Amino acid sequence: MTPRQLIQVTEEFQTPTYVYDANKIRSQFKRLQGAFDGLPVKLHYAMKALSNVNILKLLKQEGAELDAVSIEEVHLGLRAGFEPQQIMFTPNCVDFGEIQEAVELGVHINIDNLTILEAFGNAYGSSVPCCIRINPHIMAGGNSHISVGHIDSKFGISIHQVRHIKRITDSYGIHVYGLHMHTGSDISDAQVFLRGAELLYEAAQEFPELKFLDFGSGFKVAYKSGDIVTDIEQIGKEIADSFRNFCKEYGRELELWFEPGKFLVSEAGVLLVKSNVIKQTTSTVFVGVDSGQNHLIRPMFYDAYHHIDNISNPTGQKRLYSVVGYICESDTLGYDRLIPEVREGDILAIRNAGAYAFSMSNNYNSRRRPAEVLIDGKQMRLIRRRETLEDIFRNEIEAEVVTEKA
Ligand SMILES: *Cc1c(COP(=O)(O)O)cnc(C)c1O
Repeated sequence: MTPRQLIQVTEEFQTPTYVYDANKIRSQFKRLQGAFDGLPVKLHYAMKALSNVNILKLLKQEGAELDAVSIEEVHLGLRAGFEPQQIMFTPNCVDFGEIQEAVELGVHINIDNLTILEAFGNAYGSSVPCCIRINPHIMAGGNSHISVGHIDSKFGISIHQVRHIKRITDSYGIHVYGLHMHTGSDISDAQVFLRGAELLYEAAQEFPELKFLDFGSGFKVAYKSGDIVTDIEQIGKEIADSFRNFCKEYGRELELWFEPGKFLVSEAGVLLVKSNVIKQTTSTVFVGVDSGQNHLIRPMFYDAYHHIDNISNPTGQKRLYSVVGYICESDTLGYDRLIPEVREGDILAIRNAGAYAFSMSNNYNSRRRPAEVLIDGKQMRLIRRRETLEDIFRNEIEAEVVTEKA
C-alpha cells in the first residue's frame, strides 16, 4: 500500500476513509501458520476486530475459520460463506436464547458460566457437545482494560471451579470436547502464554473426550517503534514441544486452536483523514481533522498510540502538533507528535487502524461513519460505502403512544 495509492483513495472516495491492505492480512495469516507449522492447528479469526464481510471472505480464502462473540457475528460469518462447523461462538453474559439460536445454526458453543452450563445440560443433555472457557487467572500485560484472564475478570469459569464444572457435565451427560482460554490482547511475554497453556493442560486431564484445546489470542503487534511485540515464532516453538508432550500424556492427538484478531488485521489498516484547520493556541498547535473518537476510539478508550503521517507533505519540515478530532469532546488522536508540516487540506494517515477501529466506530454527534476500501496489489475497491444522512435518521420514528397499564 503506497502513499500514492492512499492519496488516490482520498481522490476517489474522499475522507475519512479506512483502507486495508489485503496482502498484509494474507502475510500475517501465513506468518501465524508458519509459526505453528507441523502442529494440527486451526486459526479462528476473531472477527470483532474487523468484521467487514469482504475481510471475512479474504481470510476464509486463506484457510481461516471464525471466532464470533455475538449471535449477530455468527450470522455475519455464515453470510460470508463459513460453514457452521468453522465458527466458534464465544459469548459472554448473553441471554440463553442466543445460545439456543447458535446451537440451531450448528456452530461450536463455548460456555463461560456455570448457570449457562446447567441450562445447556437441561436443554441438550448429551446431544450437543460444548467447549468450556476457563479463566486461568494469569495476567497478560499490565493494562486491565485489555487483559481478561485475571482474578477480577468477568470472563470464563475459574480454573478452581473445575470440580463444579465436572459435577454439572457428569450429571447432565454433557460432552465437553474443547477447553478454551483467552487472556487478553496484550501478550508481550511468551512465558505468560505458556504458563496459561500449562494450566489448561492440567485441567484437560479431567475431561477425557476432548478434541481440541483453544488458546485464544492476545498476540501483540507494534504500534510504535520500540514496542514489545509477541514473538510468535518463539511461542510456536515452545508450544509445539509442550503440546506434543501433553498429547502423549493425554493419550490422543488433539487439535490446537487460536483466535487471532489484532495480529491479523491491525497493521493492515490505515484511517485517512483530512486536516480541516490548523489552530495555534497558547500552549500548542492543534491539527483539527475530519474524524475523531467516533471513528477511532482507541486513543481515548485505551490510551492507545497510533502513529500519524502526513502523506501530502512527507518531506516537509517536522513540527510539533496535537492531532484532534472534530467531535465535541477532547478527542485527541495524538499528543505532541512530530509530523512533517501540516497544512489545511493535507491528508494524514493514522496507522494500525485495522483492528478495533472501524468495528468500534459510532454515530456520536450524529456523524456518519467512514467508508472502507480494500487495496489488493494495484486494485482498490470500496467495501463499505460512507454512511448517508438517511442512515442517521433511519430508525427515528414517531410511533403510536403506548399508555401506562392500569
Ligand atoms: C477479542 C477476542 C480475541 C482476539 O483478541 P486479539 O487480541 O485481537 O487477538 C480472541 N478470542 C476471544 C474470545 C476474544 O474475545
